[in-house]
Amino acid sequence: METKEHRIREIQPGSIGEELELVPGDLVLAVNGQTLEDVFDYEFLCRDEYVELLIRKESGEEVIYEIEKEEDEDLGILFENGLMDEYRSCRNRCVFCFIDQMPKGMRETLYFKDDDARLSFLQGNYITLTNLNDSDLDRLIRYRMEPINVSVHTMNPDLRCQMLHNRFAGDALKKLDRLYEAELELNGQIVLCPGYNDGDELESTIEKLTAYLPYMKSVSVVPVGLTRFREGLAPLKSVTAEEAARTIDTVERWQKQLFDRHGIHFIHASDEFYILAGRELPEEERYDGYLQLENGVGSMRLLWEEFSEALREEPGREISAAVSVATGRLAAPYIEKMARLAEEKFPGLQIRIYPICNDFFGEAITVAGLLTGGDLMRQLSGKELGERLLLPVTMLRSGEEVFLDDVTVSQVQGALQVPVNIVKSSGADVLAAFLGQGGFRDTDYPGYEL
Ligand code: SF4
Repeated sequence: METKEHRIREIQPGSIGEELELVPGDLVLAVNGQTLEDVFDYEFLCRDEYVELLIRKESGEEVIYEIEKEEDEDLGILFENGLMDEYRSCRNRCVFCFIDQMPKGMRETLYFKDDDARLSFLQGNYITLTNLNDSDLDRLIRYRMEPINVSVHTMNPDLRCQMLHNRFAGDALKKLDRLYEAELELNGQIVLCPGYNDGDELESTIEKLTAYLPYMKSVSVVPVGLTRFREGLAPLKSVTAEEAARTIDTVERWQKQLFDRHGIHFIHASDEFYILAGRELPEEERYDGYLQLENGVGSMRLLWEEFSEALREEPGREISAAVSVATGRLAAPYIEKMARLAEEKFPGLQIRIYPICNDFFGEAITVAGLLTGGDLMRQLSGKELGERLLLPVTMLRSGEEVFLDDVTVSQVQGALQVPVNIVKSSGADVLAAFLGQGGFRDTDYPGYEL
């Protein structure tokens, strides 16, 4: 294997790295005599009480540092590349891929199709297993990089090849067996595409996935998202209200059986199915501890529960204020209910809710996280916005004040002539924002993910 050098970007103050007088620009060549493929080799090899670090200084001199430390003590080294390796891109062309349905001319990083097991472990990304070789699998198992989140979509190998447009995608499912045999924690995801993996196919996929219990902890079913930019792509239909209801029936039937047998509900339909079908969201207990919030499974229920609790604890009083909230069409009815409850408890408070239609990607995209600054400015222009406009943090790029279309929060403020408050994601944050409390411009928040 080719030897890799890993450039240090920063040394944390007070760390072992600082004590050793390591500096940004130094290159880490090996740990305990072994070269490092990526961050997992580094983390794994440094998990020891005695570590030998081979460094090349800027002068070209190579130095071995012998370090005695607590087993879990970090060396305080941050690398220029967080993964210490190239990000792996996917080898598929999924019929439902959202990235293929994005308009041209957006920020280049938004078009990157990652399919990287290391990001599954580090950030919770879902992987298809199609670009994992045997040595990758060995490392996943040896380092116990769990949970591994798998985009399954179907357990029918031929159908999986067709949906992922990859002739190896069916065989790749066998890798699930190795992860299961190694007792690694797993989660699964199914993007439901009407006419492909719904109906009997969904039934059979759920049944086959139950064989991975108890190490597979949860499987989500999410509806395919279709933008208005699908020219030249395979024809696909959105999930209708009837199809959403049928999917919920299938999922809930399995939930009952599996809960009786295994004590967990295992399979979950995302919030969007319930909203599409006009059904009540499942009660909190049914989410098994909210294992797939990032897939929109249980987020609305959790938000509602947190908001209700915060509202119960807050003493009622007169509040003279008028605020507005802009959000996606999916969440708007729930935010509307929260607003009415808050208005009852706080006389004088007036909250207007504006559901924003996604003109940028197309009206079938209803989540707040894919709304753009341009749509906000156009649709809210001339509207009564009160003293403050509240926007959910999911609309912004992680840690920044920039929307998907590169419009900034300041531009929206300027165009609409209203102060904008960014609301973090919990129900308590929503209530605090209604009441004008809380640190709204904190940029340490998780933003959108495609
Ligand atoms: S959906 Fe994911 S795995 Fe499929 S083509 Fe797009 S990025 Fe790749």
